[in-house]
Amino acid sequence: MNYELTIKPEGRKLPIGKMLCLGKNYALHAKEMGGDVPSEPVIFTKPRTAFIPDGGTIQIPDISNELHHELELVVVIGRAMRNVSEEEGMEGVLGYAVGLDMTLRDVQSRAKKRGEPWAVAKGFDTSAPISDVVLRESVPDPSNLRMSLLVNGELRQQGETNDMIFNIPFTISYLSRIFTLEPGDCIFTGTPEGVAQVVSGDRLVAEIEGVGRLEVAVT
Ligand code: MG
Repeated sequence: MNYELTIKPEGRKLPIGKMLCLGKNYALHAKEMGGDVPSEPVIFTKPRTAFIPDGGTIQIPDISNELHHELELVVVIGRAMRNVSEEEGMEGVLGYAVGLDMTLRDVQSRAKKRGEPWAVAKGFDTSAPISDVVLRESVPDPSNLRMSLLVNGELRQQGETNDMIFNIPFTISYLSRIFTLEPGDCIFTGTPEGVAQVVSGDRLVAEIEGVGRLEVAVT
């Protein structure tokens, strides 16, 4: 397995770095999870081994009976950054991609109840499908994109990136004060409402207007 992002249009490869993810970054999703809208970003990570590319297959680990999809815009970092302003942070973006933050909801619910980390629920192998990356220059306004997810042809999630609670410039600047950002790092920006279960045999097609398309299977 090569843990490499494909950059469009040339098809250049870039090794994927760490994945930093926002939880509850859309109000209606925070509500459907039975929680409040956060006043500070909720951050978790996925290891680079969680990555699969477009056309890949998500494998449900045998410790779970409840795999959920979360459709998300992914911001791909292009240069090393630490303690950057919102403006500098946006200049350090390489591009954008369509991502799925696959989540073992039963494992996560148990962890939440016990006050334990989400590492297993969020970071298992194949939990991070990411499409090819389009360059920043071809996405003039990432804060105004329509996104959708179909499962077996049926619409499951639909949203707009302008509904994010913490926007992209703020998020990059905020994260850079905690984590050194490096080329190939991926920021998952949270999911709109409509998360639900997928099972073996399902086909997921995620699309973000002006960014791309991601198709994966579940087994
Ligand atoms: Mg998520």
